Amino acid sequence: MYALTCEVCDWRAPGGSSSACPKCGGFVEISYQRPLTTDTTRPGIWRYASRLPLQDPANAVSLGEGGTPLLPAGRLGRALDLPGLHFKLEGANPTGSYKDRIAAVGISRLRETGKAAWAATSSGNAGAAIAAYGARAGVPGHLFTLERAAPAKLAQILAYGPTVRAVARLGYDPAVEQTTWRNLRAICDSNNWSMLVTARTLSPHAMEGAKTISYEVCEQLGGRPPDVVYIPVGGGGLLSASWKGFIEWRAAGLIDRLPHMVAVQAQGCDPIVQAWAAGRPVAPIAGCESAISGIQLTAPPDGDLALRALRESGGWAVAVPDEATYSAQAELAAAEGIFAEPAAATALAAVRADLASGRLRGDETVACWLTGVGFKDMVAAQRMAEGHAVERIQVEQILALAASG
Ligand SMILES: [Zn+2]
Repeated sequence: MYALTCEVCDWRAPGGSSSACPKCGGFVEISYQRPLTTDTTRPGIWRYASRLPLQDPANAVSLGEGGTPLLPAGRLGRALDLPGLHFKLEGANPTGSYKDRIAAVGISRLRETGKAAWAATSSGNAGAAIAAYGARAGVPGHLFTLERAAPAKLAQILAYGPTVRAVARLGYDPAVEQTTWRNLRAICDSNNWSMLVTARTLSPHAMEGAKTISYEVCEQLGGRPPDVVYIPVGGGGLLSASWKGFIEWRAAGLIDRLPHMVAVQAQGCDPIVQAWAAGRPVAPIAGCESAISGIQLTAPPDGDLALRALRESGGWAVAVPDEATYSAQAELAAAEGIFAEPAAATALAAVRADLASGRLRGDETVACWLTGVGFKDMVAAQRMAEGHAVERIQVEQILALAASG
C-alpha cells in the first residue's frame, strides 16, 4: 500500500511503523504504490484515503476533520489591492485547528496497529486534537506539555480526559526538548504505545494527514494551485507536509505547476527565517521573545525539511513582529468575519509585509493557511476587544437609538 524510504541511506521497507531509518536514523519518507484516487463518497480527509498510510479505511477514527472552507478575501482583498487573496479556514476543524487532520490519521493508525495508548508533547493545539481523537477511539493518552501552556488550550485538552504532565523547562531549553522526545520514544517502545508528535521527523505517518490541506485547495481553486502559499511555521512540519501535498497532486497529473511556499514566523522566535537568510541549516536559538502561542519553537524538529520546501518551490521566509500579527488578527475579524488565533494571523501580516516590499505584485493567487480558531487564545481575543466600549443603557433608550439610526 505504502513504502518507507530512508532519505540518507539505501534502506527501504514495504510499509511498517518505523518513524526513522533503523539502519542510520535518517528521515523516512512515505510513498504510495496505489494510484491517487479521490473517494467522493467519504467526507473530509478520508476522500484522500488512497494517499494516507492506513491499510484499511474502516479503521478511520473521525470527528469530521478536513473539508474546510477556502474563502476569497472580500474587503481585505480590495483594500490591499490583492484580489486573488484567499483564506483556508483550518479553525473550522472539530477541535479548532489543522492538527485534527494529523490526529485523525495518528489515532486511526493507533487503532489499526493495536497500540494500547498514545503519548505526545504539545503546547496546545496538537494536544487538544490528539486528546479528542483519543477520546473518540476510547484509548488512554499521556500528554507532556509546557509549564506555561495557554490556559484556554490547556482547559480544552483536560476536557478530553488524558493524563497531562507539565515538564520543567520544556519549551525553554532545546536540550530538554530533545531529551523529552528521546524518553517518550523509549516509553512508547517498551509499553506498546503510539508516539504522536506533530513533526514529520518524529511521526511521519500521522503527519501525512496535513498534506490534505493542499489537495483540498487545488480542488477548491478548480484544479489550479495558488501562486503563493503563506504558512505559519513553528516546527516546520506543516509547511513541509503541505509542499508534499502539492508535489503528489502534480505527480497525479491534477495540476500542471507548483506554488511558491512562504514560511512565516514571529520575529522574536524565527530560527527558520534566520537559517534561510543566512543560507545554512536550521540551528536552535537561545530563547523565544514572541508571545504568539503555537509557533514558539526554538529548535524546530522539521526545520531543515521546511528549508528544503522553500528551496524547491522558489519560496522564501518572512518574520513578522507580534504587533503586526495582532493588527492582522483584528483585521481578519472586522473586515472578513474570520475569528483566527494570532498564530494564524501571522500569514496575513506577512502578506502585508511582502506587498509593502514589492515581493508580491498584487496579481497573484495567494492562499493563507489560517491554522487555528480565535478561541484558542482568549488573552489575544480580549486584547482585540479592548477599545470597543460596551455602553450600558435602559430598555426605553433602544427606541431612541433606532430613530437616530
Ligand atoms: Zn538510513
